[in-house]
Amino acid sequence: MRKKIVAGNWKMNTTLDEGLKLASEIVNMVQDEQMNDVNIILFPPFVHLHSIHKLISDVNQVHLGAQNCSENESGAYTGDISVGMIKSVDAEYVLVGHSERRQYHQENDELLGKKVLAALKGGITPIFCCGEPLEIRESDKHFAYVTQQITNSLFDLSEEDFSKIVIAYEPIWAIGTGKTATTEQAQEMHAALRNHIASKYGEKIAQNTSILYGGSCNPTNAPELFACGDVDGGLIGGASLKSRSFMDIIKSF
Ligand code: PEP
Repeated sequence: MRKKIVAGNWKMNTTLDEGLKLASEIVNMVQDEQMNDVNIILFPPFVHLHSIHKLISDVNQVHLGAQNCSENESGAYTGDISVGMIKSVDAEYVLVGHSERRQYHQENDELLGKKVLAALKGGITPIFCCGEPLEIRESDKHFAYVTQQITNSLFDLSEEDFSKIVIAYEPIWAIGTGKTATTEQAQEMHAALRNHIASKYGEKIAQNTSILYGGSCNPTNAPELFACGDVDGGLIGGASLKSRSFMDIIKSF
């Protein structure tokens, strides 16, 4: 059975006080409200991780992740954060390959493959983000483009390592734009990614890989997206910054 996951990517938003308030509201709602079996992961800015871990540590359903990691273990890499550091504050997940990292920090498939390996080696679960820009979708090359991202960064992994990965499909034209993929567009891409994984690692691993959708997901469109057979949850940006809308997305499973 693959995991259902709803993850909130806070990006470069919230001061520490604001982040603690948001995390407390989420924890209180999870404890007070009738909850389903979804795994909730919060991806706050790095500097909040330690304090937010203390807030969530008693709540089994809520997990913590970092928005990025270095491919290196330690050393003279000013400003970088290693997997070991992330692990030391009890975060369990890391985002790798978000389109904003690819775009603003020139992170390419090869580097992202190294980050995934570093995360796995350090005992952190990578959520590997992939997705096509608008011009690729409009030229009808999106399946080839996204499957190639997965091949390039992930297909050198062993079966054992690949089976620990979570994938997030995030069409770039849908991120922060208010323009969501239709359920047909999401389902057909998720199914194509699952087939692609099966062609390399076999049906069992493919069926057990959680594939999340990301891109302007909100409480209104989440129910129909999460009802798609191959959509196992969501990576939520803007709508994860308000506790009520984030909870409504979680509860729409
Ligand atoms: C994201 O950045 O991962 C994302 C999906 O953002 P938004 O929900 O704001 O489109």
